[in-house]
Amino acid sequence: MINIAVDGPAGAGKSYLAKEIARRLGYIYVDTGALYRAVAYCVTEKGIDPSDSEAVIKLLPSVDVSLSYAEDGTQHVYLSGKDVSAEIRMPNISMAASVVSAIPEVRAFLLDLQRNMAKTNNVVMDGRDIGTVILPNADVKIFLCANEKARAKRRYLELTAKGVETTLEAVESEMFTRDKNDSTRKVAPAVAALDAVILDNSELDREGTVEAALAIIRSKIS
Ligand code: C5P
Repeated sequence: MINIAVDGPAGAGKSYLAKEIARRLGYIYVDTGALYRAVAYCVTEKGIDPSDSEAVIKLLPSVDVSLSYAEDGTQHVYLSGKDVSAEIRMPNISMAASVVSAIPEVRAFLLDLQRNMAKTNNVVMDGRDIGTVILPNADVKIFLCANEKARAKRRYLELTAKGVETTLEAVESEMFTRDKNDSTRKVAPAVAALDAVILDNSELDREGTVEAALAIIRSKIS
């Protein structure tokens, strides 16, 4: 199986890139952030404080998270059979996901699901620790980044297009706090793998980013 890892900070455009590469190559796109978001959604629905590690760990055995794919390749995430793909995109869930994802037991809980997807399918998997922890032997590792201003603006436009009421300042603040949590946590920090190719797309549009990533992929896989 061919495994392509796409890691990087929030708002760099990982989802679009990974989804588009998967579509063009005929691979499965796995959005691992959705799994952490689903756990965070479950935690908040139960009225549990995401930073209460003990309570979150206690809840894990009852968390039934699964993925399925629509015909167009869109990933859907389910909690106990209920599709929560839209609910998990809310800004409060982004922050809660960042908090629960720092709990080692939460990461261990989601490990097999991610590795099994890659064992049985050609995948483009996006996240924070795919190249470092989940798929250390991935055929291609891309670390996608962009400057803070570009990332915040993209996320702001994405949220407002969905009808979420927010401001650029609020998005910036949420995004940078989350990036700091994610890149400085003790387990599986969001850093580039030593053998990852860094792709900075601050000055690239979506198609330019896809082309640059495909060139990297072609150079690694003949
Ligand atoms: O990628 P996305 O923004 O949807 O991820 C939400 C949160 O889930 C991130 O801020 C990060 O804390 C966590 N995450 C992670 N490891 C991954 C994917 C996401 O810790 N592989």
